[in-house]
Amino acid sequence: MPAQAVILVHGGCGPRPGTRQQLAVLRQALAAGYAVLTGGGPALDAVERAIVVLEDSGIFNAGSGARLQLDGAARLDASLMEGKTLRAGAVAGIERIRNPIHAARLVMDRTPHVLLIGEQARRFARLHHLRAGRRSPRSVARWRAQLRTADGALVELARQMQKDTVGAVALDQSGTVAAGVSTGGITLMVPGRVGDSPIVGAGMYADNRAGGIAMTGDGECIIRIGAAKEISLGLARRRPPGSAAAETLRGMRQLTQGTGGALVLGADGRFALVHTTEYLLGAYRTGHEQRVASRFRKI
Ligand code: ASP
Repeated sequence: MPAQAVILVHGGCGPRPGTRQQLAVLRQALAAGYAVLTGGGPALDAVERAIVVLEDSGIFNAGSGARLQLDGAARLDASLMEGKTLRAGAVAGIERIRNPIHAARLVMDRTPHVLLIGEQARRFARLHHLRAGRRSPRSVARWRAQLRTADGALVELARQMQKDTVGAVALDQSGTVAAGVSTGGITLMVPGRVGDSPIVGAGMYADNRAGGIAMTGDGECIIRIGAAKEISLGLARRRPPGSAAAETLRGMRQLTQGTGGALVLGADGRFALVHTTEYLLGAYRTGHEQRVASRFRKI
């Protein structure tokens, strides 16, 4: 019997709830990804499709809406992983590419590698005819305003800001899971900074023996904990998704003072959206059950 298709998406976490517009775009992304699954398509395509909708919206920290680094450049990170074969692809610090998630997919499909960075990643993407992208006027205006108010305590500032990275996890009818994330990083990053999002095992992970995980939050802390892989190991030990995520996020808060949120989808179809921040902008769909909200399981 085919597995029940499930998809979860997020638009980041932080001190603020989502705007109506953000929640509407999350709903669109969910529908786009779910349509792939109900059409019998693979979880990987569903995740990629959902993330493209979020990147193209310009209202999340991904694609054209991405945050800019301290020098005013948008250097984007994205990753994808598939749980049957553990194939993964990612790009980090890529500039002027409209959909970094497509670039991550190309790294997975067309190279023997997992991660390409910077200018070489951009050239690789252009060689494969990905569309060029540019910073939106909104991103530039926000960057200017933030520069004016920053008093040197950049790390503290970044911690307090909304993290509106995007991510998705899905389970297809063949029983395979996939996960993906796309981001512009954090507010006023030192140029060249790379967060958790393109790091397999930190920002996301997918393994059919456990499930799919997509993170958002303080990237440096997520990397140091190895958050996505740790949650995956919890699932593999038969911890329910909510407990596996809560244990890792609590541990991260205790050990590193970092906060964040996780989409966790077990290979058996059970799932949870968990966060230590006030809000997690997220959505899920399985069968007739659908929810789009700014708060889920806050711990
Ligand atoms: N985790 C991302 C990063 O640190 C930020 C986010 O989740 O919005 O790059």
